[in-house]
Amino acid sequence: MMDSFIFPGLTTRVVFGAGTLSRAQEEVRRLGHDKVLVLSTPHQKADAEKLAESLGDLASGIFAGAVMHTPVEVTETAVEAFRASGATAVVSLGGGSTTGLGKAIAVRTGADQVVIPTTYAGSEMTDILGETASGEKTTRRSPDIRPETVIYDVDLTLSLPVGLTVTSAMNAIAHAMEAFYAPDRNPVIELMCRDAMVAFRDGIPRLIEDPQDRSARTKALYAAWCCSTALGYVSMALHHKLAHVFGGSFDTPHAETHAILLPYTTAFNEQAVPDLLRPIADTFGGGSAGGELWDFAQTVGSPMSLKALGIEESDLDRATAIAVKNAYTNPRPIDPGSIRELLQAAWEGRRPGG
Ligand code: NAD
Repeated sequence: MMDSFIFPGLTTRVVFGAGTLSRAQEEVRRLGHDKVLVLSTPHQKADAEKLAESLGDLASGIFAGAVMHTPVEVTETAVEAFRASGATAVVSLGGGSTTGLGKAIAVRTGADQVVIPTTYAGSEMTDILGETASGEKTTRRSPDIRPETVIYDVDLTLSLPVGLTVTSAMNAIAHAMEAFYAPDRNPVIELMCRDAMVAFRDGIPRLIEDPQDRSARTKALYAAWCCSTALGYVSMALHHKLAHVFGGSFDTPHAETHAILLPYTTAFNEQAVPDLLRPIADTFGGGSAGGELWDFAQTVGSPMSLKALGIEESDLDRATAIAVKNAYTNPRPIDPGSIRELLQAAWEGRRPGG
């Protein structure tokens, strides 16, 4: 029970359920727009075209060039396409990369955003934009970045490959993990995070068995909404900093990077705030939170080491130096020696904690 807190309220409208993609037109009109640009990655271009067709006259074009880590060069091209199309809003269909591009356009043009997430990455509920320029990823927060409306259509997640299902869920769990000890946490976020842990623990093993299991997909997407909300309404710490270091400076894939780091960052901070991380430990087996998450990751076939991602042992010194520069506020003090040790364990894939 928290003795004192501030609850900032939740501002994004959420439409959740199977088949809700069909509500896109209504939701765009509800925001008062009559021209939108549909965004996607190249991989999801066909889905974006289908969506644009269903939007009819509302769709003024498609930009299917979203890529991971929101490079500013791509954003600049997309902003030109947005302005040329005459659109006043974007509809972002896809994972965090597409949502990131929509946010980058919104912050430069004032466009409204309707986001239709198809992974569990969780960018859609946040006021956070991470962008990559000159090999470094920087993050900013602003109310202009937060999407106006999010449509969670469970059916769109049925095609999510098992590998990405697992790593994307681990990415979402990382948002909840850091929310449990965030200095600005509140009871609403904590309840959502607790619920999300249970839903992922139960849903992910079922999705490995059967990726088309609609009820498990519903659980997982619900959990992703909870975790995204947590990321969007409280501050993040060491875990997210390290994920940005590897994504921005070593170009590692986002979800896998989160998945690998999660047990280690959890174990690192657990030494400072074991009681606050107890809900994770209890949900995943009752031992230490870091150790239980490592076991869960292994059970669900998540990638287990930075080495397996192609990181060289000799990269760890540079990663440490970037991580301790402008470090985020963290419950356990950060110093180069302890971060280097954490990264060594994550590089080798050794089970953390006890
Ligand atoms: P992604 O959006 O790059 O998607 C990975 C690949 O999977 C893409 O090719 C995509 O088209 C494809 N895909 C997505 N959904 C699919 C589906 N249902 N079926 C089949 N294929 C599908 O990856 P991601 O992990 O969702 O997002 C990573 C990006 O999101 C990173 O750039 C990260 O920084 C950003 N992110 C930002 C925030 C924030 O709050 N700012 C939060 C989380 C993630």
